[in-house]
Amino acid sequence: MKITDILSRGTASLSFEVFPPKTETNFDSVKAATEEIASFSPSFMSVTYGAGGGTSRFTLDIAKNIMERYGVPTLAHLTCVSSSRETVRARIADIAASGVENVMALRGDIPPELENSDRSRWDYRYAVDLVRELKACGHELCIGGACYPEIHPESANQREDILRLKEKVDAGCDFLTTQMFFDNNLLYNFLYKIREAGITVPVIPGIMPITNAKQVEKAIKLSGSFMPQRFKSLVDRFGSDPAAMKQAGIAYATDQIIDLYANGVLNVHVYSMNKPDVALKIKENLSDILGKPSPV
Ligand code: FAD
Repeated sequence: MKITDILSRGTASLSFEVFPPKTETNFDSVKAATEEIASFSPSFMSVTYGAGGGTSRFTLDIAKNIMERYGVPTLAHLTCVSSSRETVRARIADIAASGVENVMALRGDIPPELENSDRSRWDYRYAVDLVRELKACGHELCIGGACYPEIHPESANQREDILRLKEKVDAGCDFLTTQMFFDNNLLYNFLYKIREAGITVPVIPGIMPITNAKQVEKAIKLSGSFMPQRFKSLVDRFGSDPAAMKQAGIAYATDQIIDLYANGVLNVHVYSMNKPDVALKIKENLSDILGKPSPV
């Protein structure tokens, strides 16, 4: 099933992101965690893709397995920046042949060894190049793109970032998923600006439940996200108590999600980090909310 069809149901839904194993050795444990999350019947699940090819071959294995065994629609991520045209075309053909109907078209982070190389010689420089490649392949996949309510770290300013986002959407994105954020007002502000810029595709907010103090530093480094004082106080108070931090982090994420639904968001994507217990708790916290028609 295509993600655009899921969104057109008009009811509150929840999806989860998982990541593939880094090595063959931990394939079975990762597969088991993703299957457990799939058993909670999310609206869909996304499977990330290791830029540079690290874990790339497992992305489709995991996505296909979840779809076939649990009937959960899946979204296979694909990055392009450090890949040849030949490799990318082969991956697209694999996705189309697998029956997975959704692909997240990403640039990926630029590997340090390529930082100073001649970019004019790269087959792909930006995600928009991959979106164009996907459209040219003619497989009719549902295409997602990434967006950044707090600006992509390489962008000079938000205006420039939104102009580039518009180009990506116009090239063929059917929906967008956001980078994590911890203050919903940042999302509402961003939505207002992109709608003004003429970007009309659905936007799926991405929420990261922070369940241990170590994760905080990592998440900020990765995303550059702003941490509201309310969230900082929570980490200060509970950061050294793992059980309390986990409960508080799940409650904070749940609160963000409920506010998003209350403001008309249809689907929230949870960066569940292969943690079935966290995914389940959030789903349980929303048991009487999921499936309700959107007020907008
Ligand atoms: P782009 O859309 O290409 O944007 C990157 C930067 O280039 C932005 O600053 C943009 O404004 C600018 N830009 C775009 N087009 C042009 C142009 N024509 N000229 C000049 N500037 C331009 N990484 C992974 O490795 N694997 C994953 O599975 C993965 N999943 C992700 C999922 C989500 C929802 C998000 C938000 C990020 C994910 N990432 C993943 C990280 C992502 O690859 C990085 O954030 C990367 O730095 C940018 O990717 P992008 O697709 O947003 O790039």
